[in-house]
Amino acid sequence: MAKYKLEYIWLDGYEPVANLRGKTQIKEFNAFPKLEELPMWGFDGSSTRQAEGRNSDCMLKPVAVFPDATKTNAALVMCEVMMPDGKTPHPSNSRATIFDDPDAWFGFEQEYFLYQDGVPLGFPQGGGFPPPQGEYYTGVGYKNVGAIAREIVDTHLELCLAAGINHEGINAEVAKGQWEFQIFGKGSRTAADQVWMARYIMLRLCEKYEVDVNWHCKPLGKDVDWNGSGMHSNFSTKHMREVGGKAYFEALMEAFDKYKNEHIAVYGPDNHLRLTGLHETQSIDKFNYGIANRGASVRVPHSFVNNDYKGYLEDRRPNSQGDPYKIASRILQTIATVPTK
Ligand code: ADP
Ligand code: MN
Ligand code: MN
Ligand code: MN
Ligand code: MN
Repeated sequence: MAKYKLEYIWLDGYEPVANLRGKTQIKEFNAFPKLEELPMWGFDGSSTRQAEGRNSDCMLKPVAVFPDATKTNAALVMCEVMMPDGKTPHPSNSRATIFDDPDAWFGFEQEYFLYQDGVPLGFPQGGGFPPPQGEYYTGVGYKNVGAIAREIVDTHLELCLAAGINHEGINAEVAKGQWEFQIFGKGSRTAADQVWMARYIMLRLCEKYEVDVNWHCKPLGKDVDWNGSGMHSNFSTKHMREVGGKAYFEALMEAFDKYKNEHIAVYGPDNHLRLTGLHETQSIDKFNYGIANRGASVRVPHSFVNNDYKGYLEDRRPNSQGDPYKIASRILQTIATVPTK
């Protein structure tokens, strides 16, 4: 038997964006614990905006477990928040009731800024801006990426891979101090669990560098020539991958247009600051799609058109603070309205 450090991690009740919370318990196991071996646990919901003070206990239900490579005998345990009965999902639990389909594949491109002392890494401390955007995207060299960002993003990648998170890549982004990682998963919950866990690992890693992760979609404001942060959501269902066809694609896009407001409602807060029609975005109140068009709401890859309209599509509207559970669910909900015949 060995003592395992189990970090139970959950989403709190803050709106419009939940924070990640975590606390550790120690349990003995013969080997790295399986999900079904992990017990439920409780926490004080009155300190996380999830309960009133008088009846404050909420329950944590483990739903996914990942090795924690920063310690020996340690696990990161993604949890859903349940009511005190342990059975009813808490209203803040966005995972419990979503549309899921194990045959739906998602690739999330999480963009974010690394911040220190209130400004993006590499911005002058006293105010003002570094040289304009141009060389930062996929850039190299101190003047483009600074001194510590590379160590952070490379370490993050190692920790996530060691945890079994299915990273597909990382890159420096268009703004100084802005970065991206991509995660691919099968099924809404599987893919979204990994995004939340990767966010957690990034936040925790950055503590020792005195760096904060700014997930806001337009941290530098709307009126400057600096990019915002998205979480482009690439998706495909079995039908899209195996049957596809132009008529089905057009019907799908019609449904996406019809439900555009419902999509925007779960695509992250303050998205009107980001979806302006500039900086590789479409305006928030319009829906369009385009082949290889990075100014469209949905980008259709060349590979999709060249393959008889089979494959995946990229919804470019979700932002960096969006909840991937809700985003994946909404995409599947809209797809479900389109007959496959
Ligand atoms: P770009 O920056 O050009 O938009 P990225 O390479 O950053 O592209 O992201 C593309 C994403 O598409 C990857 O995260 C990948 O996992 C995802 N993807 C690839 N194939 C599929 C598929 N069949 N279904 C869903 N997502 C997919
Ligand atoms: Mn956040
Ligand atoms: Mn990308
Ligand atoms: Mn990007
Ligand atoms: Mn993209």
